[in-house]
Amino acid sequence: MAMVELKIAGIDVFQVDLPYSGGVYRLSGGREYRSFDATFVRITTNTGIEGWGESTPFGSTYIAAHALGARAGIAEIAPRLIGLDPRRVDRINETMDAALVGHEHAKTPLDVACWDIFGKSVGLPVCELLGGRTDLALPIISSIYLGEPEDMRKRVAEHRARGYIGHSVKIGGDPAADAARITASLADKQPGEFFLVDANGGMTVESALRMLRLLPDGLDFVLEAPCATWREIVSLRRRTNVPIHFDELATTDTSIAQIIADDAAEGFGIKISKNGGLTKSRRHRDMAIAAGYTMSCQETAGSDIAFAAIVHLGQTIPERYLRCILESRDIVTVKTADGNFEVMNGRVQAPKEPGLGITPILSVLGKPIASYS
Ligand SMILES: [Mg+2]
Repeated sequence: MAMVELKIAGIDVFQVDLPYSGGVYRLSGGREYRSFDATFVRITTNTGIEGWGESTPFGSTYIAAHALGARAGIAEIAPRLIGLDPRRVDRINETMDAALVGHEHAKTPLDVACWDIFGKSVGLPVCELLGGRTDLALPIISSIYLGEPEDMRKRVAEHRARGYIGHSVKIGGDPAADAARITASLADKQPGEFFLVDANGGMTVESALRMLRLLPDGLDFVLEAPCATWREIVSLRRRTNVPIHFDELATTDTSIAQIIADDAAEGFGIKISKNGGLTKSRRHRDMAIAAGYTMSCQETAGSDIAFAAIVHLGQTIPERYLRCILESRDIVTVKTADGNFEVMNGRVQAPKEPGLGITPILSVLGKPIASYS
């Protein structure tokens, strides 16, 4: 049977502000976040199939990504995609990479929308096309912004009471204050729970080594993104036995190959818009599995459409290699799509509907702010 012709006919861009659900989110270096500027794309095909994707940077100070850049990047790329077959996801990514170097967060919603279309065109959920679903109900992880130790302990407890199995605890760079934050956040640790202690690149090697020496023995956690640079993390790693994960520095095929080559970590965080969409994240997933790494499957930020992509990718990672997935919807107050993504006992599974399995809420997304055809 001949392959039915399927072409990208039009691309529409939408913008929505997503307020942070917890008031003010604080990261190392004095960074604060109150709301996230989200970009959505709808790709329409010649046959009328629609695909959706989202790109929501964590403000403009987290990684080299920002909302205006996402939309400028889409403007650069979108005209080149008209007429291409959205099912040929690697070819779509080659075209995007030829149109614009880097700027993975701009490519991500376009890539994810193509996967949504691919799934709908063959009647399969995206996770099946990414390699097939595991039986695992995916554990969700909280995101505990840095604050006073007892306040952080309380927020961990609140998330625990809501079923969260993992906790990402943010620290700031002061050895004594961070040791107190970690000690308090882990004080009530339950069997089966796990903790990522995430400095978001905020520590020097010196401050990290001092902090580790101030901790009581036997605390069970992974240290994520302790330092901002490659050299510092590798230097720290040589002098501690604490498991280390990369996050902000693990973005491309090259950087992930280098982590493995340098034996620089035990794993890393895949954030779909940081890693360049589902096509590239799929490759990073496979590189991690080949290296024996654990992954957390996340996003920089995002609402229901971004969460759907997280769940479909996470659903393909074998349990041994999956640390957690981020419940990104819980971080914002706006619902942008309906779908069968119910969290039960701190776990979620990808839906059975074709594509991402979401129905965007057009009344929330509003009118397109740009269109390409
Ligand atoms: Mg992180």
